[in-house]
Amino acid sequence: MRGRLARWGLPLLALALVAVWAAGRRPVPLPVSETRFLMDTLVTVTLWGLEGGEARAAAEAAFAALEAVDREMARIPGTPLWDLNEAGGGVVSAPLAEVLEASLAWARRTAGAFDPTVAPLLDLWGLWDVGKRGGTPVPPPAAGDLERARARVSWERLDWDPRSRRLDLGGGALDLGGIAKGYAIDRAVAVLRDRGARDFLVNAGGDLYVAGTKGRTPWRVGIQHPREPGEFLRVVAPAEGALVTSGDYERAYLWEAEGERERIHHILDPRTGRPARGCQSVTVWATRAMAADALATAVFVLGPEAGLALLESEPGAEGLAVGADGRVHETPGFRGAAPVAAPR
Ligand code: ADP
Ligand code: MG
Repeated sequence: MRGRLARWGLPLLALALVAVWAAGRRPVPLPVSETRFLMDTLVTVTLWGLEGGEARAAAEAAFAALEAVDREMARIPGTPLWDLNEAGGGVVSAPLAEVLEASLAWARRTAGAFDPTVAPLLDLWGLWDVGKRGGTPVPPPAAGDLERARARVSWERLDWDPRSRRLDLGGGALDLGGIAKGYAIDRAVAVLRDRGARDFLVNAGGDLYVAGTKGRTPWRVGIQHPREPGEFLRVVAPAEGALVTSGDYERAYLWEAEGERERIHHILDPRTGRPARGCQSVTVWATRAMAADALATAVFVLGPEAGLALLESEPGAEGLAVGADGRVHETPGFRGAAPVAAPR
């Protein structure tokens, strides 16, 4: 009896110690990842570090937040935004007021490069549904039509009363396509944080927010090359925050007339009324996705030089712009990410 204890006592003690040590080092739960088609794109929510049930419930709540924004702010029949445009104005909900106020602030700060009233121009170019919902290319508009639509586009014609939340469109129309996705991502992030998530990724078709780490390694994100489908311009490990890209390559078509090919795409220069020509793509990092989204659209319109100057004047924003000639311009804070494919 004593002999057996002496023989097994030590290994049993060692085993017990290993068990205690292992219990103290709780394994990181496996990631939970869900993908749905939302806001005209594939949206993926990935969570690390929460238990399976908790993680799935958190992802579900995040999708509900994203959907709520889409249902309210997409410019399609039946949404409150659509009704607001039809009625020429009205009293808006608190979330719509928040996005509207941010849009007006960005319009002011970008001297109208970002303009939430581009709707009439988007419609004229047939761009509201290009690349989505089976949209078909239409011929470029006649000069007179372009002038008339352009005259209706200006954020300065909006009459907004924040106290009563009443908006008068002044004959114009709202389109929040350049900012609402960022707002939706921010809402989803707030929901995930409320549920205790620390390590997660919300990826809405390449516009994303990263928090914490991917298990024990940093999140790494590829920035799509604007002219080489499937190739990355850079692979970066962004700090906690949002990374949003605006490009001329996804919702776009080439229009050919008299031997000339013109790239028609969905980011319009409110000054000319035509698709903005200065950039092929712009990627902006910021602490909030709504800011990154609005800035990416504005920098695209302004072009690499003025656009980068804008980014450098914005605290907490960094970014990269690929000019029309394919050259990459970046803010000092964005540099250092290793290029994996030479830009062409
Ligand atoms: P996405 O991520 O959907 O590609 P972007 O953030 O690049 O969108 O913004 C493009 C969208 O923004 C357009 O589809 C349109 O709804 C809207 N938009 C286009 N031009 C402008 C502009 N100059 N200012 C504000 N919004 C714009
Ligand atoms: Mg945008």
